[in-house]
Amino acid sequence: MKATVMHQAGDVRIEEVPDAAIEQPTDALIRITRACICGSDLWPYKSLAASEGIRIMGHEAIGVVEGLGSDVTSLKEGDVVVMPFASSDGTCVFCRDGLQTECVHRGFFGSGAEGYGGAQAEALRIPNADGTLYALPTGTDESLMPSLLTLADVLGTGHHAAVVARVAPGKSVAVVGDGAVGLCGVIAAKRLGAEQIIILGRHADRTDLARELGATDVVSERGEEAVEKVRELTGGFGAHSVLECVGLDQSTRTAIEVARPGGAVGRVGVPQDASMPGAQTSFYANVTVGGGPAPVRAYIDELLPDILDGRIEPGRVFDRTVDLDEVPDGYRAMNERESLKVMVKP
Ligand SMILES: [Zn+2]
Repeated sequence: MKATVMHQAGDVRIEEVPDAAIEQPTDALIRITRACICGSDLWPYKSLAASEGIRIMGHEAIGVVEGLGSDVTSLKEGDVVVMPFASSDGTCVFCRDGLQTECVHRGFFGSGAEGYGGAQAEALRIPNADGTLYALPTGTDESLMPSLLTLADVLGTGHHAAVVARVAPGKSVAVVGDGAVGLCGVIAAKRLGAEQIIILGRHADRTDLARELGATDVVSERGEEAVEKVRELTGGFGAHSVLECVGLDQSTRTAIEVARPGGAVGRVGVPQDASMPGAQTSFYANVTVGGGPAPVRAYIDELLPDILDGRIEPGRVFDRTVDLDEVPDGYRAMNERESLKVMVKP
């Protein structure tokens, strides 16, 4: 079968790899009908060393179940399923707490981890299928698939940032980052009743979309100027809730500095540095800083109805669709900021 293989930074190829197959009785085999390229895929695209080995890419997908291990009970062949970016058994103490991304059996798709393939491919083996996959209602409208695909990562991740940042009715919210996760953070903040939603971003086409999705203010400055601007917009004190959707040192520092005393920062941008900035700033302002890989599997129950009813349209983050052979050009386009988020239809 064909899959997306990253060899090293800047070198993504479509190659023949061994067919995905059932290996464990708890596995499912899915044929990928939609996948996408994630902003986090751009980190290895910028930095993967050849010595780290090849990586089959992709961790967001919708697919059709084509095979099931003998122990899988909740799925049947032909089910159309959402595949969250991490697998989870659905039964351990963390899964029962709704934190499937800390599952004792977790594994990240498209990460190069042993036993985990990637979703930018024709097919994929899904470990712990009962806990991992989410079957969509039968007959789901094809036109909703782009929005449903965001349940695999970016919508659930933006929602997680909002939950960790304690977004609630009447609150002021700052969203740091105008990528797909930041835009989904705007959707999530509006959905949770935020009164003011400030997006920090520098790409006019993206901040324009953010306004359409619910942002009330745009701050295009960076660093200290951005902090000043957010304070001005929030009565001088900063935002109650801040969503950090980038993962760089500078963006994390800004996120902590724009939080008002007693506020909270939800971090979902994959951190690119081992240490976290803003320790003293957050300490002296009693700012809570939390976050991590979003348990998107847990959030599907809550977010799916709003997509099915058309109340939210997170699929608007996709601005390009490619087939498998065009995936390398999709990476190039996203890396050069020519495209916001690329959908893949194998
Ligand atoms: Zn678990």
